[in-house]
Amino acid sequence: MKDDNFLKENNAKHMWHPMAHPGGQQDNPPAIITGAQGVKITDIDGHETIDAVGGLWNVNLGYSCDPVKEAISNQLNQLPYYSTFAGTSNDAAIELSYMLREFFQPEGMGRAFFTSGGSDSVETSLRLARQYHKIRGETQRTKFLSLKKGYHGTHFGGASVNGNNRFRTAYEPLLPGCRHLPAPYAYRNPFNESDPAKLTQLILQAAEDEIAFQGPNTIAAFIMEPILGAGGIMVPHETFMPGMREICSRHGILMIADEVITAFGRTGDWSGSRHWGVQPDMMCTAKAITNGYYPFGACMIAESMTEVFEKAGPEGSIGHGYTYSGHPVGAAAAVACLKETQRLDVRVNAAARGTQMFEGVQRLKEKHSVIGDVRGGHGLMTAIEFVSDRESKKQMAPDFGAKVAKVAYENGAMLRVSGANILLSPGLVISEAEVDTILNAVDAGITAAG
Ligand code: PMP
Repeated sequence: MKDDNFLKENNAKHMWHPMAHPGGQQDNPPAIITGAQGVKITDIDGHETIDAVGGLWNVNLGYSCDPVKEAISNQLNQLPYYSTFAGTSNDAAIELSYMLREFFQPEGMGRAFFTSGGSDSVETSLRLARQYHKIRGETQRTKFLSLKKGYHGTHFGGASVNGNNRFRTAYEPLLPGCRHLPAPYAYRNPFNESDPAKLTQLILQAAEDEIAFQGPNTIAAFIMEPILGAGGIMVPHETFMPGMREICSRHGILMIADEVITAFGRTGDWSGSRHWGVQPDMMCTAKAITNGYYPFGACMIAESMTEVFEKAGPEGSIGHGYTYSGHPVGAAAAVACLKETQRLDVRVNAAARGTQMFEGVQRLKEKHSVIGDVRGGHGLMTAIEFVSDRESKKQMAPDFGAKVAKVAYENGAMLRVSGANILLSPGLVISEAEVDTILNAVDAGITAAG
């Protein structure tokens, strides 16, 4: 590896960073992370912090998960690559598809279509939704419904159903026929309704209206995150996802659960859909499927959809797939990861530490008037939203969050800033003391920034 001076001098000079301004990185260079242990990361200056971001909500088992590392290494020696396009397969992908079907049995999932990450899984689900209807002769079902504030990755399909302009405007025109319903965001919504149950009824009604307006038989699928993640951790009321499920079923619209963040324990359950007691028609997964150690994902397809494809004529053939679909190393990582995830039953700690974090942040809200809203309480997903004035709910400029994060980093926690929000999503194996360190660092950050 090059020496530290070389790395610092060349930091951000020859690389454009995702989700960052390419002109702003050199004056404010990114932290160079050089190592990690447990749920902690170390930067190039030897400064160690707890990773309150959990990689990017994906390193659920922490950075020291030896069984996954060994599985990757063994697989590299046995078979580093072969494709799973028609005609060939590999042992790791076969084992993983078997395990995932078992794992997602309560959600009714029957098949896995492997991908290289979350955006790929979303793209796969949107394409398969259209194809499903075409096979059945409902060729006019091409439109998609989604939620404002939702995040579904960065391919054109995903960007089209994304509910945040930041990921859309510069890349328009996007896919036609994508409609966005209001987000289940009780703190701010067009109805001025702060009661989550009542807000749910209003959004469900808005969904009915939009479906009637578009024509129910023109809509292919509705996609949602069971708990909205990157958009600011919005936890829908328990009646929301079941309500949308019922509406979708009644109108022949497929329901896609984007579980890229919520699957594999983060919500305190094995999936967000299970958390809300819903069986979707497809589930997009990625991230924690390999604990972040290898780029990989799976679009799970419900048992109820499989016959339509498998018994179809040539129109059932899937004209979609990635060079790395079913990559043997990724699949081996995922097999090991799933075993470890179940062995440790990480849901339990995610739920307990999630409650601790949520309660801790609520206490910070009593102390700091710049905290307008806190969201979470379902596993290790907690958001803090900053306002300059609680009465008017005027949002703080993003540089406030950046100041909080800077001081928090000095005090031992790497935070993620998203607009006026701070999003906390550490690894699911985090300890009670480590959650306290995060809370103290956030407290110090807000005190210094305020
Ligand atoms: N869907 C959701 C819900 C996500 O949170 C993300 C990533 N944050 C994606 C899709 C896209 O995943 P990836 O970045 O792996 O393409």
